[in-house]
Amino acid sequence: MKSFGRPLLKLRVSLLDACNFGCVYCMPETAAFCNKEDYLSPDEIVGIVGNLVEYGIEEVRLTGGEPTLRHDLACVAEKLGKLPLKKISITTNASRLLQFLPALADGPCRSLNISLDSLEPSNFEKITNHDGLGRVLDAIERARALGFKIKINMVVMKGLNHHEINHFVRFAEREQIEVRFLEVMNIGVVRSHFKQWYYSGRDILRQIESEFTLSSVKVAADSTAQVFSTAKGGRIGLIASESMPFCDSCSRLRLSSKGILRACLMKEDGKNLRGVPSHEYPALLQEIAAMKPLTRIKEIHEPMYQIGG
Ligand code: SAM
Ligand code: SF4
Repeated sequence: MKSFGRPLLKLRVSLLDACNFGCVYCMPETAAFCNKEDYLSPDEIVGIVGNLVEYGIEEVRLTGGEPTLRHDLACVAEKLGKLPLKKISITTNASRLLQFLPALADGPCRSLNISLDSLEPSNFEKITNHDGLGRVLDAIERARALGFKIKINMVVMKGLNHHEINHFVRFAEREQIEVRFLEVMNIGVVRSHFKQWYYSGRDILRQIESEFTLSSVKVAADSTAQVFSTAKGGRIGLIASESMPFCDSCSRLRLSSKGILRACLMKEDGKNLRGVPSHEYPALLQEIAAMKPLTRIKEIHEPMYQIGG
């Protein structure tokens, strides 16, 4: 499956839109979530992903909303593990991760992307509207001990947490865990704060290089991140979706918690795959591939928790 020459290999699967955090850049003050009964069941997810694997999908990342609010998270991962996938991973805020680790450790998911926007308890609470920093750090430590590959994602915002960037680089060096710095994206609630919060990838790198010497690390052609190592062996990444978009090498599709497959984070239209028989996939996937834009769409009103980040 290709879109204008770009192989489509990776799928983000949103398990639900609900979340226990209220990150200022993602969750509006009054958020309405779908009815639980409307979310795809584990068997529906595996059925759809199984069909997509036939057309080239190799990697699946489970996300949301907050995937650890689904009690059947490990069961979904387990069932996906029976498909010929190269990689299964999870993106999580990690506040509830600890309780899932034993079951996940026995399953096929070996990679965790953990969102962590502050290492200061009061700032963490200000950004996420949750007081769970201690639980997140405990989960990171335990996941590492269990052998999971971990990446930390920090969304950088001017005036909110940009002063913590170099603390995170030191964290990456000390803990030997890759930290990726994300430009805040012009999505959903961010749109009214974008000018105020946006801190560019160049500014992020300039701030890091005021204290650390960075060397470039080679990454896959469809990587969203530029990756660097520090002299002390810390590994950091930069995902500059706003200032350095990667649409021309994007290999991702997204499946919503209700079964809508979309071609791009920034494009609302998609195709419903729930209950669709296998023989209808080729025509639907051709339509999806044709929907994938070649250049960056400037903004979208839909928030990330609904799309599946
Ligand atoms: N709740 C999980 C978490 O936070 O890891 C998974 C879903 S969340 C929508 C996925 C990722 O999207 C997180 O790393 C979050 O920081 C990021 N995100 C959400 N809104 C964003 C925005 N406006 N700009 C940049 N990243 C955003
Ligand atoms: Fe929840 Fe993740 Fe959105 Fe934060 S970024 S509000 S943790 S879905």
